[in-house]
Amino acid sequence: MSSTIQQARRSGKPLDAAVRDDFPFYSTGAPGAALAYLDNAATTQKPAAVLNALIDYYTNANSNVGRGYYQLAMTSTERHDAARETVRQAIGAGADDDIIFTGGTTHGVNLLAATIGRRVVGKGDRVVVTGMEHNSNLLPWRRLCEESASELTVVPVGADGAVDTADFAAALGPDVPLVAIIHVSNVLGTVNPVKEMVAAAHRSGAYAVVDGAQAVAHGHTDIRDIDPDFYCFSAHKMYGPMGTGVLYARHGLLTDLQPYQVGGGTVKGVSACEPVRYVGGPARWEAGTPDVAGAVGLAAACDYLESLGWDAVRAHDETLVRAASDMLADIPGARIIGAPAAGPSGLVSFVMDGIHPYDVGGHLDKHAIAVRCGVHCASTFLDDLGLLGTVRLSFGVYNTIEDLARVHDALRTVRPGYW
Ligand code: PLP
Repeated sequence: MSSTIQQARRSGKPLDAAVRDDFPFYSTGAPGAALAYLDNAATTQKPAAVLNALIDYYTNANSNVGRGYYQLAMTSTERHDAARETVRQAIGAGADDDIIFTGGTTHGVNLLAATIGRRVVGKGDRVVVTGMEHNSNLLPWRRLCEESASELTVVPVGADGAVDTADFAAALGPDVPLVAIIHVSNVLGTVNPVKEMVAAAHRSGAYAVVDGAQAVAHGHTDIRDIDPDFYCFSAHKMYGPMGTGVLYARHGLLTDLQPYQVGGGTVKGVSACEPVRYVGGPARWEAGTPDVAGAVGLAAACDYLESLGWDAVRAHDETLVRAASDMLADIPGARIIGAPAAGPSGLVSFVMDGIHPYDVGGHLDKHAIAVRCGVHCASTFLDDLGLLGTVRLSFGVYNTIEDLARVHDALRTVRPGYW
């Protein structure tokens, strides 16, 4: 048993294991009772506070929003509006900024590429991304470049798993109207200095889109501090429901753009012989019946994280990342990729000499340990790293040192060609 694991266990860190009591997933007979669930970068489990918010909405307030002239419909609309306000406050967005409910990060980025992207990126321009983008913040921009005869400039990732901010600044220029950067890498856990990168983009006259999918559950996202033009994230990676997310847009930036999708809820009125007039604000971007319960659940997740305290969440992640790094140092042939201890990402990626990541993942699964292995929806990044894939341990607020001790024990018996 590695010394850090023993030490961490003695000091009572990370977050008290009683956090598990908040999650029905860990109740007797549920999957978490037997499983070391370490795939939180893919999705997190949901606390009772979130599940109850969903049940309460569907039990006591279910009705369509923004269109019914009766009390229940108004209650539903109020809950939707209140959820938007909770999210706004949770990320410190301004009163005039747009908090647009989306289906998740992927939806948000696609919306941006199809609207502001098409507006500002033209023939001969360049869009700048980093070499560590998830496909969801890469492919929409790549397609936009193909469609607009512009070019995608990919700023390389160094051996330390980080992007050199000087390289990023050097990639900017008058022909770059937009940059799209990942806040926290889902592959290595690298925390990018997004505030600095956004400021560089702005100095150069570019709009800055930030993919916050992996950041929002691990630290307080302060929009005023980062100052992006657009910031996308998913509820399900921060203890909220699947299929719901948020696109933050700085006030006014989307106002006069043609809606991404059109339909119910987006118009002031339609007549056969007049041009269609679309509404402004978030409703312009939320055509059709929104996932109201999802928004309510996301708001409950924001409140839940707030109740744990960001300092505690951050300390918890740092403790587990340190303990995991130490544990892996004790496993012959294990090699961490990148330098995960440098930031509060709650994620450690590693490979094992001569053993395919899927063999490691399959072996851990046999020991009731759930991890992600492979290319993590970032195959171009893995190609650049010269790797077939990695094994990823990613932590949530309910993970314990015991979970890592189980990984440690199981890794000692992994062999090549497990399948
Ligand atoms: N961006 C990053 C960094 C991610 O890790 C993910 C999901 O793993 C996404 C975007 C896509 O999120 P979603 O599938 O919720 O749209």
